[in-house]
Amino acid sequence: MARLPRIALFLTGGTIDSVGSDRLDLAWYNEAGQRLAPGELLGMVPEAEQVAAVTEVPFRRLSSHALQPADLIELGRAVAQLLASDAADGVVIAHGTNTLEETAYFLHLTVRTARPIVLVGAMRPASALSPDGPLNLLRALQVAASPAAHGRGVLVVLNDTIHSARDVTKTATYRVQTFADRDLGPLGYADADGRVVFYHSPMRRHTAQSEFDVTALGDLPRVDIVLSYLGADGALVDAAVAAGAQGIVSAGTGAGRPTPAEEAALTRASARGVVVVQSSRVGSGRVVRSPGVRQRGWVAADNLVPWKARLLLQLGLTRTRDPDQLQRLFDEY
Ligand code: ASP
Repeated sequence: MARLPRIALFLTGGTIDSVGSDRLDLAWYNEAGQRLAPGELLGMVPEAEQVAAVTEVPFRRLSSHALQPADLIELGRAVAQLLASDAADGVVIAHGTNTLEETAYFLHLTVRTARPIVLVGAMRPASALSPDGPLNLLRALQVAASPAAHGRGVLVVLNDTIHSARDVTKTATYRVQTFADRDLGPLGYADADGRVVFYHSPMRRHTAQSEFDVTALGDLPRVDIVLSYLGADGALVDAAVAAGAQGIVSAGTGAGRPTPAEEAALTRASARGVVVVQSSRVGSGRVVRSPGVRQRGWVAADNLVPWKARLLLQLGLTRTRDPDQLQRLFDEY
């Protein structure tokens, strides 16, 4: 019999291994601060044995909103090293859903591999009536074990749906179908018949073709996000500059419009060498490099949500401050 794919399972915390006070504790469980013991989450899915030879890799377990950039770098290095040394055929990372899309996109940009890396989470804790985590985990293992997942960049699997790390975002606070790719759609499904089916492939550069490499990365520069709203006066832009931001992602209204006062503050920031990336607070659709944006030396975020534009800008700033070079990154990744 052919050997099963070897999958390394990193548990980084989140709802998927959280334990609440009772079966209907579906909202406050993370305040109880209790988690399953090592091996227990996997133990809830004995069917995994038919899919892959799974080894749990210890990592710190936190709520995902408590993770720091240093955690991402350490996780990325551990994953890259494991895959490069041929100790695993693929990786599954269990992660809190709050910032799952940020970790996924960071790994998508910085881990040079064609082997599958799949992030998985859950919307209901392990102790819930009808937890979604165990089946999500099985689906994630099926995707990571599938030859069809090779070369497709970092993937996110929840609710039977396979998403690209670049496109996916959390869209609802409590619904199990929270992850969506807005106007781009999912890549495929880990479906009810146990099959993994892809319908699309990511077109932008990622993982094996990326120019970034987590194993060579030092600290990431400070980049802040400023969200625009009617009447915003630019004080938050000035505060970001005062705090030492090297870049600012402006999450403008509509197709990417900060208020006039914010625009003046962002122009002052650019004059001091801070790189400005213009994105939108809408969360879907492209922000284009208009003549005005180009003339101010700003960069357009394309259709990246502001928090993913921030990650790409942080990585870009490790290489260059030139707006045209940075724009190239937003056009290619
Ligand atoms: N509520 C979050 C989750 O769904 C908690 C976290 O992001 O850690 O996993």
